[in-house]
Amino acid sequence: MSEEIVVIPGDGIGQEVVPAAVEVLEAVGDFDFVEADAGDHVKAETGEALPDETYELVADADATLFGAAGETAADVILPLRTAVDSFVNVRPAKAYPGVDALRPETDLVFLRENTEGVYAGHEDRLSDDLSTLTRVVTTSASERLAEFACDYVGGEGGHFQVAHKANVMRETDGRFLDAVVETAEKNGVETDAVLMDAFATHVCLDPTQFDTVVCPNLAGDVLSDLAAGLVGGLGLLPSANIGPDNALFEPVHGTAPDIAGEGIANPAATILSAAMLLDHLGYDEEAERVNSAVEAVLADGPRTPDLGGDASTEDVTAAVLEHL
Ligand code: ATP
Ligand code: MG
Repeated sequence: MSEEIVVIPGDGIGQEVVPAAVEVLEAVGDFDFVEADAGDHVKAETGEALPDETYELVADADATLFGAAGETAADVILPLRTAVDSFVNVRPAKAYPGVDALRPETDLVFLRENTEGVYAGHEDRLSDDLSTLTRVVTTSASERLAEFACDYVGGEGGHFQVAHKANVMRETDGRFLDAVVETAEKNGVETDAVLMDAFATHVCLDPTQFDTVVCPNLAGDVLSDLAAGLVGGLGLLPSANIGPDNALFEPVHGTAPDIAGEGIANPAATILSAAMLLDHLGYDEEAERVNSAVEAVLADGPRTPDLGGDASTEDVTAAVLEHL
């Protein structure tokens, strides 16, 4: 049986980089691709950025590959993350030989809690002078994230870091930290707890101290962007939103309106997202092949203009296919 993969190019360069990644998936496996639509151009036509149909397709698919949405990003991606009940956002930050990076030795992965924290909290305006925010942390969501992290690091004998601020937010981050550490202990996985502010400094000074970093929602959002800066920016970063039954994969970058339509977008982030998709579906070997092919092309070229080259999206995609 071949898995069903929903493909949503969306807006801007999503229309260019998603087809490139689909070509790569077609080259390594036998999948059922279902094309779906969402984004600014859909809103312009129908009044709604995310058609119910698309939502249903994503909720029912084994996996989704998403490009980007412009102005309507929040109306599209937030519900789609809910459609897959995504409880963890996986964001690798890895520097590649051949690509300028502030810290070329960086190779780490953030596992960010994706359902609660301050993003699930209530904001209230209590007076002209006072606004408040309630933060949500549950033991169950923290444990679910930690179980995922334990699997991610290979189970017993593995280890990961936990970024937190439990010394100040004793109740919420305290609960998060306790649940994560206890779950890891039960699984025979070692943890290092790191204060998130100290982490920000240490990751800049020496990123090799870290490999898998489990974070609450807001901290994961900020710290993974910080690490993106260390590896040379947006064009290369993939991400995954994982749920219990399915998952959605997307490049970290957006629609890049400044270069959209020119055929020069770097497809690497989306192809690397497709590799994460393969890995998630159990095609480890195929995922590895795709990762190695991208790595080889980044090292030897051809390169798109964002990496200092003059190649097109098509040239780079063809080179990746050749390496496969
Ligand atoms: P959006 O609101 O959709 O996020 P944006 O203007 O913030 O749009 P991004 O997509 O976030 O644009 O990209 C920021 C910058 O990085 C832009 O200059 C863009 O051209 C560049 N960039 C992002 N992704 C790529 C890519 N895949 N290839 C080449 N350049 C890219
Ligand atoms: Mg952007």
